[in-house]
Amino acid sequence: MKFTVSRYEILLRGLRVRCPNCGGRPIFRNWFHLHHRCPQCALELARGDGFFLGAMVWNYGLIVFGCLPILVGLFFVGWINGTVLAVLSLSAGLLLPVVLYPWAWSLWLMTYFLALPNELPANAEADTEAGAEETV
Ligand SMILES: [Zn+2]
Repeated sequence: MKFTVSRYEILLRGLRVRCPNCGGRPIFRNWFHLHHRCPQCALELARGDGFFLGAMVWNYGLIVFGCLPILVGLFFVGWINGTVLAVLSLSAGLLLPVVLYPWAWSLWLMTYFLALPNELPANAEADTEAGAEETV
């Protein structure tokens, strides 16, 4: 199936914290508040109860599998000692969830629409048009 918004575009928009449907921005009112709907295309971004859990998983994953292995690696090669490792790990655990919050949300939206690209209104319209052409 050919989509109007390709998976590659969804990926790029997710990495750049843009709306997966139209590529518009900002998708955040401020650092901590995602717009309920995209200001440009009205795509529902906060898609109901529990949808935020995906962003939490991304946030947790970025820290646990992205940052902490680097710190532990620095400890094992001897560049930092145990005290510095503990301080940096605690600091990363407390600060990075805040710093990464918008990016984690964007990555979650990207993941969701990469899995279900036909749920984007732009792709649904193309799907409907293709279906109408087939029936004519
Ligand atoms: Zn949009």
